[in-house]
Amino acid sequence: MSNTERTYIMIKPDGVQRALVGKIIQRFEERGFKLIALKLTQPTEAHLEKHYADLAGKPFFPGLIKYMASGPVVAMVWQGLDAVKTGRAMLGATNPLASPIGSIRGDYALAVGRNIIHGSDSVENAEKEIALWFPEGVVQYTSVAEPWIYE
Ligand code: UDP
Ligand code: MG
Repeated sequence: MSNTERTYIMIKPDGVQRALVGKIIQRFEERGFKLIALKLTQPTEAHLEKHYADLAGKPFFPGLIKYMASGPVVAMVWQGLDAVKTGRAMLGATNPLASPIGSIRGDYALAVGRNIIHGSDSVENAEKEIALWFPEGVVQYTSVAEPWIYE
């Protein structure tokens, strides 16, 4: 079975401050994904510069780092079938105004610079991000729901 794909999902400081943590976690749980790592953490600017290294040089980069370091984030790893692409679909587009109603950004955000959530954009980047945010590793366990979610 190909249900071992993993994605790195992070509720950004605005999502935490707006008390959307429970609702966001609920969406991933209800879809059928398995939570295999979770922590509330206050990231340093240096750590965020590594996370967003590909965007260094963009005009919005300094503001992005300040925003992301402005409060605690919820770092998570979710596992399941097509977790990366499906996770991105659940988030919506980078610009919340271009995000479909029913997506997380489409339901809870308006501005691109306050779009409440991050999700990995490829399996390769997901693995890099999981290693960066969870150097201690993730948790392995069998979910009792698995035979009811997968054939
Ligand atoms: N961002 C921004 N202005 C832009 C583009 C991106 O503030 O014009 C921020 C936004 O918070 C976005 C993050 O930078 O989520 C990372 O950008 P990316 O293109 O990777 O979008 P994502 O993968 O988060 O959809
Ligand atoms: Mg991105």
